[in-house]
Amino acid sequence: MLKYLLCFCLLSWCLPLQASEPAQIENVKHIVLIGPPASGKGTQGAFISDTLKIPKISTGDLLRAEAQSTTLLSEQIKDIMAKGDLVPDAIVLSLLRKRLAQEDTKNGFILDGFPRAESQAVELANMGISINCVIILEVDDAVIIDRISGRRIHAASGRSYHLKTKPPKVPGKDDVTGEALTQREDDTKEAIEKRLKSYSMQTKPVIAWYEEQAKTQPIKVVHIDSNKPIDEVQKAVSKALKD
Ligand code: ADP
Repeated sequence: MLKYLLCFCLLSWCLPLQASEPAQIENVKHIVLIGPPASGKGTQGAFISDTLKIPKISTGDLLRAEAQSTTLLSEQIKDIMAKGDLVPDAIVLSLLRKRLAQEDTKNGFILDGFPRAESQAVELANMGISINCVIILEVDDAVIIDRISGRRIHAASGRSYHLKTKPPKVPGKDDVTGEALTQREDDTKEAIEKRLKSYSMQTKPVIAWYEEQAKTQPIKVVHIDSNKPIDEVQKAVSKALKD
């Protein structure tokens, strides 16, 4: 009798644990995507957004939209971005705070391009936002240069193409609207060099910061080889969200 009682106690203790495992994907809702320029943050972020039904928030997109506006800051932002420098934290944070206050972020979000410096990671934590998952997309410099030089975008929607690997149906035209494709202003050689430098000097320390945080908090930090084709990277991202 005692044996059965013991078995029952053990089972009831184990079962809820098993049942809670598949729910892990549900818990992974505050996701940070880190990677150098053209590492696939936009593409993989869109995939995660579709899968988990949470918005992808790109600080680059927020800043580009602000640069298009006619506010006092727009010219300053445009200049800084075209040079490939980092926009001051105060500006980025004010745009991000506004975006995070919107209703659609209630169930979570994916941050693409933020935090880009340790100071931004600290600010995010100070905002009371706990990040569950940090995905780092790793790419070699030579691959980055090749991806960026062939990159063409549809400025209005942010849709991205590549002359060799993802050409538009009609050369130079967006597949959906038929409008002209352009090159990003900061996809010049000088700006790319600066962006790569700022990634290794300022953004890489953010990875170490999260790895340190992960020692005491439930943060999953996953490194993914993003030199590979999009679908292979996507499989690795799916796995990271499920494991
Ligand atoms: P990429 O990752 O290809 O460099 P993004 O669209 O993420 O492209 O960023 C473009 C530019 O926007 C950056 O070079 C920088 O000038 C600015 N920017 C984006 N996010 C941030 C940020 N978190 N902090 C400061 N500047 C940023």
